[in-house]
Amino acid sequence: MSEKHKIFITRPIPDNGIEMLEQHFKVKVRKKDSPISRDELSGAISQHDAVLTILTDRVDGELLDQNPNLKIVSNFAVGTDNIDINACTERGVKVGNTPEVLTTSTAECVFAHLFGLTKRLIEGDEIMRKGKYKGWGPMYMLGVELKGKTLGIVGAGRIGSEAARMAYKGFGMNIIYTDRGGNKELEQELSAKQVGFDDMLEQADFISIHVPLTRETRHMFSDNEFKKMKNSAFIINTARGPIIDEQALADALENKEIAGAGLDVFEDEPEINPGLKKMDNVTMTPHTGSATWEARSAMAKVAAQNIIGTLIEGEEPVSILNP
Ligand code: NAP
Repeated sequence: MSEKHKIFITRPIPDNGIEMLEQHFKVKVRKKDSPISRDELSGAISQHDAVLTILTDRVDGELLDQNPNLKIVSNFAVGTDNIDINACTERGVKVGNTPEVLTTSTAECVFAHLFGLTKRLIEGDEIMRKGKYKGWGPMYMLGVELKGKTLGIVGAGRIGSEAARMAYKGFGMNIIYTDRGGNKELEQELSAKQVGFDDMLEQADFISIHVPLTRETRHMFSDNEFKKMKNSAFIINTARGPIIDEQALADALENKEIAGAGLDVFEDEPEINPGLKKMDNVTMTPHTGSATWEARSAMAKVAAQNIIGTLIEGEEPVSILNP
């Protein structure tokens, strides 16, 4: 075993990824299952050749300057909004991520929320548990069907496309989408139609967000956007919290400008806007879009291979964003 390279993992990840790394390197796994502090991360970066980060670890130029020999930041996520990629590139540090392997899990999470909202799962469950169920009624707890409804996908990349596929093939929904490019494959496979952003806001019965968090997408959904949506429309966010202005969403729900929201991500995690917590037409999951055994162990493998492929000649990383 070569102990030439030292690897730091900021938080326990599935064993398979750690074992892959231990075959080649000296690996230190921080044992605490809580976000690492900036000081601790800074200290770790100063002493290691590679760091395997998670999405709450902010990596910027100041941190990178702790170690001019750092070779790679391997993020245990597909989104890399926690990493200043330009600062990494300027310092010759590679940035790895874990695309594809979490696509199914995250797209399925969209449907957890779609069904949770349209079948009023949370409300119904609470009624049952609290002993408030008094029997079947013709007008009791009505929801809406997905079949024949229009799903608007914001960002028709990997997860957006997979959610569209599930919606079209599984539930008979019509697909419209916005993206800064086009997705001809989706148009052919699902008769999906690319539309302008405002048209999507006006036409969609459900909107599902799948763009990355960037300067352009921060608060992409705020007061004006909610006002343009149908009063009967639902919004689902499994991408990143700050893409939605959370106070504007709470106001739009309060004012009945839209019908409901399904949220896996939040603007200021782990805090949640108090207005949202009060509403029974909001479903919330604790950022568990990729939290399946299948996705997380595959993510561990990809994140480990990105380090192995960067540090060992003859090995190939899976996904490096600044090769
Ligand atoms: P992806 O394949 O890169 O898809 C993103 C799509 O959005 C791409 O088509 C991209 O276009 C487009 N896009 C980027 N900026 C845009 C803009 N300003 N306006 C319109 N379209 C824009 O990424 P993915 O694998 O589907 O992942 C999407 C996001 O989901 C990730 O960034 C991550 O934040 C989030 N995520 C969350 C969870 C969770 O646990 N909840 C799990 C996985 C991922 P280009 O191809 O031109 O860039």
